Amino acid sequence: MKLPPGISDSVFNSAVREFERAVGKDWVYTSAADLDLYRDAYSPFKGEEEERLASAAVAPSSVEEVQAVVRIANQYKIPIYPISTGKNLGYGGSAPNLSGSVVLDLKRMNRVLEVDEANASCLVEPGVSYFDLYRHLQANGSRLWIDTPDPGWGSLIGNALDRGGGYTAAKYRNHFDAHCGMEVVLANGEVLRTGMGALPGARTWQQYKSGFGPWIDGLFSQSNFGVVTKMGFWLMPQPDGYLAGRVEVFQYEDLIPLVDIMTNLENNGIYTGMPMLDVPLINPGLLPGESLRAPPPAEVQTLLGKPGGPAPAELEAYCKQHDVGLWGCKFQYYGPEDIVRAQWAYTMKRLSVIAGARFSEPEFYNLPLTPEQVDKVHKVTFGIPNLEMFFIGARSPTNPNPTRGHIWFSPIIPRNGREVFKAQRVFSEASRQLGLPVFPLAMATTYWERAFIFIFGFPITDDIELNRRNRAAFRELVRIGAENGWGEYRTAPAYQDAIMATYSFNNHALLRFHETVKDAIDPNGIIAPGRYGIWPKHLRGNKA
Ligand SMILES: Cc1cc2nc3c(=O)[nH]c(=O)nc-3n(C[C@H](O)[C@H](O)[C@H](O)COP(=O)(O)OP(=O)(O)OC[C@H]3O[C@@H](n4cnc5c(N)ncnc54)[C@H](O)[C@@H]3O)c2cc1C
Repeated sequence: MKLPPGISDSVFNSAVREFERAVGKDWVYTSAADLDLYRDAYSPFKGEEEERLASAAVAPSSVEEVQAVVRIANQYKIPIYPISTGKNLGYGGSAPNLSGSVVLDLKRMNRVLEVDEANASCLVEPGVSYFDLYRHLQANGSRLWIDTPDPGWGSLIGNALDRGGGYTAAKYRNHFDAHCGMEVVLANGEVLRTGMGALPGARTWQQYKSGFGPWIDGLFSQSNFGVVTKMGFWLMPQPDGYLAGRVEVFQYEDLIPLVDIMTNLENNGIYTGMPMLDVPLINPGLLPGESLRAPPPAEVQTLLGKPGGPAPAELEAYCKQHDVGLWGCKFQYYGPEDIVRAQWAYTMKRLSVIAGARFSEPEFYNLPLTPEQVDKVHKVTFGIPNLEMFFIGARSPTNPNPTRGHIWFSPIIPRNGREVFKAQRVFSEASRQLGLPVFPLAMATTYWERAFIFIFGFPITDDIELNRRNRAAFRELVRIGAENGWGEYRTAPAYQDAIMATYSFNNHALLRFHETVKDAIDPNGIIAPGRYGIWPKHLRGNKA
């Protein structure tokens, strides 16, 4: 077992006894078998000394027990690492930044505290998963939808605090933006409520986000400034219908007007669902990652494998010969049938300025879906949690040698076609040099309204040497991204220091501000030391 740095066996054991008194002996875990469950299954350090490991885990069942744990941690100077459901695979799992930390596992706090049907909101505890909330709404005949990330087993709070995203209407897809009010246990054990929650007896905690004075909610996301024990979210009223229509365009440069029109239509509220760009010549798959289900045709593979990538004219010639689009986009609409059909008609009109643009017959569903329809659709688009996305790691005819997992490399790129071309060029050239798989036509994803994210799953294997090389390659891509003005939106602990270091404007003024706040509100540095590059004073310089 790894103890926290500077903590002796006897101090650690005394703290564990105190944790047991606070939450009950059954809810403090110290055995190797129990602690194995808190390892990051996708750790890039597996089998190496640097793997981040917990020394113990404590699972409180109430806010009072969280307060007690925090106070004990302060008394003994034991670092604690809060998790909600701890399913942050691809971004660190439930393992702490600092080895030896005690995981504060909030899974047992799993009550849906309130659902306001008329105002379309809820208030939940950290252990409430997307599956839990979905079942709760279904069981109570609610007509509210949730917005879920691909894996539905994670929590609303953990996902939102790590600033994750989903797939329904833009207003709900950005999970931190869709929250309204939170309750936080601070490092000194005090409970704080944000927004209207600070007003005793407030009637609008889940309706008005900012309350009065500085709006501090953001301080508790991607940080280590407190333990969030409740959070409100805005939910999506079930729409009457859903329509999806597709466009394909055939010239290389068509991506530029396609993206501009797509963005303008979104900013005008013409479509409300997530637009999905794709590359039909590789695979007319409509879902992010779906192209992984089947390899591109052999001729396309040859084109993609050319040193420096295929020339635009070659791609255009292939598309013409095979009557397949070079770029495509699926537009999605939620609302009454006559309205969504009119919105699709307007979308086609706007896109018709692109010569040769070809539109599909739209797909329309009245909502709610029938069980047979649910089986066929991309479930997360309809707010239905599931675990289907794990197909991307599974053994299959196209993936005969699966890796152990992946870490997402996910830089934010401006939303325009020229920048996509540039990112495709820069990252495929860098990948070629670094010996990584090269995808010259990798496509940007559109989770957020105003910017693209490029998402690459970086393989994690059981080969220590390969993992080392991949870690170095990941850092190099981070550096190259930053050099081009593209920063990561989120990352695993292994890379948080490196990425925070790229946000360096004015001699790292942002990180210095974070450190000032950390020192003021958590002087013993007990909450998640190192999370997102924020180290307490006594551990600064400990950077990975
Ligand atoms: C195949 C695959 C697909 C994925 N698709 C998506 C996707 O579509 N969208 C997406 O967003 N992610 C995706 N992920 C990443 C990840 O699985 C999800 O984001 C998952 O929901 C996060 O786990 P969680 O909700 O259990 O969060 P947790 O692991 O509980 O929390 C994440 C982190 O937030 C902090 N934290 C959590 N709770 C608290 C608290 N109460 N107080 C203070 N700090 C806290 C901790 O630092 C913690 O490590 C995907 C992963 C894989 C492997």
